[in-house]
Amino acid sequence: MHGLMMEQQLLISGIIDHAANYHNDSEVISVNTNGGQTRTNYGEIRERALQLGSALLKQGMNKSDRIATIAWNNHRHMELYYAIPGMGLVSHTLNPRLFPEQLIYIINHAEDRILFFDQTFIPLVDAVRGNLKTVEKYVLMEARDEEIAKANPWLDFYEEFLETGDKDATWVDDLDERDASSLCYTSGTTGNPKGALYSHRSTLIHAIVSATPDVMNISARDSILPVVPMFHVNAWGIAYAAPLVGAKLVLPGPGLDGKSLVTLLNEERVTFSAGVPTIWSGLIQELRDSNTKLPHMERTVIGGSACPPSMIDTFRDDFDVEVIHAWGMTELSPLGSVNNLKNKHLTLSQDEQNAMRVNQGRPPFGIELGVFDDQAKQLPNDGVAQGDLYCRGPWVISEYFGGEGGDPLVDGWFPTGDVATIDDDGNMTIRDRSKDIIKSGGEWISSVELEGLAMAHPNIADAAVIAAHHAKWEERPLLIVVLKEGKTFSTEDMQEFYDGKVAKWWIPDAVQLTDEIPRNATGKILKTKLRESFGDVLLS
Ligand code: ADP
Repeated sequence: MHGLMMEQQLLISGIIDHAANYHNDSEVISVNTNGGQTRTNYGEIRERALQLGSALLKQGMNKSDRIATIAWNNHRHMELYYAIPGMGLVSHTLNPRLFPEQLIYIINHAEDRILFFDQTFIPLVDAVRGNLKTVEKYVLMEARDEEIAKANPWLDFYEEFLETGDKDATWVDDLDERDASSLCYTSGTTGNPKGALYSHRSTLIHAIVSATPDVMNISARDSILPVVPMFHVNAWGIAYAAPLVGAKLVLPGPGLDGKSLVTLLNEERVTFSAGVPTIWSGLIQELRDSNTKLPHMERTVIGGSACPPSMIDTFRDDFDVEVIHAWGMTELSPLGSVNNLKNKHLTLSQDEQNAMRVNQGRPPFGIELGVFDDQAKQLPNDGVAQGDLYCRGPWVISEYFGGEGGDPLVDGWFPTGDVATIDDDGNMTIRDRSKDIIKSGGEWISSVELEGLAMAHPNIADAAVIAAHHAKWEERPLLIVVLKEGKTFSTEDMQEFYDGKVAKWWIPDAVQLTDEIPRNATGKILKTKLRESFGDVLLS
């Protein structure tokens, strides 16, 4: 017997419809690429998304055609986020920090038909467009500007393109919730980038779960500023979850430096934010330099790379902001686990609670995590057994776009490429990427843990730990640091600093100073590059 409930497809258009119905005037503040702000709301975003979607269909786009964007977090990007899937097309967000060759590869692989982009990226698009095989139209996300038009006769203007759509358009009505809605490529630190193709259903379930109290805990009372870019796994889903709950949304545009962020966070009374650790380092520095506080901000999700424990402490102790450490990946839409305490932890001392907040947290409903040995045999969740982290759930990929790389699953699980432990509460600790873990004399050392500790040292601005070749032990940890101005840090300082914090044999063999820690397009340390430069220093 079937239940007797209405059957409605879980569609992305339903999110913006709901926001326009019941949070019509919830503000969306958007910092423009050319300076200044646009203040709009969910009602207007929905109206314009419908007209824009109609323009896309008039342009001859067919079901599941890919429409690409290279854009900051702004209101036009939001409109595209709803216009494209609402009309049964696939929104493909591109990361402008990728190398031009990677962008060319990705756009050709996805067979994007229209490319929307912000003014910042005119030179980038102009440089690659000669190599793009399928793009028919280039649309600059601005109103018409005669000077730009003259210098770039190859592009169209967003506001004019939108005008070609019908004002009274409706969403297409033949969509199945399993239809593709958006596409996002991994940054491909090894091999070619591969696409994760999300569906309406996976996106909706991910958004609903994201908003729940033990995940992002967001509501119509929040003012949300996603620092995480809309080109990085759909701003970790916030571009969907914020209108779903009707929260005020603050889109920072290109202004991701500490000063611009602090101003916006305080002016717009932002209560909730999300971003990668490197962005927050800049913010904390700015707060200290300008002696500013964050009176409205209550919590922030930090993920994408391991959040140094010292950053969690600084936010809590100096700025009264709760850091929610989260782990995820492109293949998981991206949410995989989130750190929040359980009821039974509330009687623990403050120090004990603080210590519990540093790991990557436990999976929310919908995600199952497990650690496996190299024979794909599941290991116990005892907090000790360390193995390959596998995962499954309704917002985890089953294969890559275009079948690239073959079947990625092992017995129905997706192997994440991370090495982790999981305790009996489900709390997961990332030890390393499997290719970055240090194998010293047959034992494993976590570079992530050593890095997190180093970041707390007052003389260190940035740090990475790599596996350096070693004549006797095969590999030994090498600490690579960027010093704060005018500071020093010797191998002896390091030994003293780590002493008592980690097992003796974990302490890195040496310190290597450098000017900058190289990072990829999503802010992750490029260990391959560091290994090329410094992998042999312990041999000499
Ligand atoms: P890419 O495009 O490089 O795959 P993702 O954003 O998908 O970028 O990166 C996923 C990877 O990032 C994870 O597999 C993990 O190694 C790392 N990562 C994400 N969040 C965390 C975290 N909180 N702690 C440690 N590593 C993390």
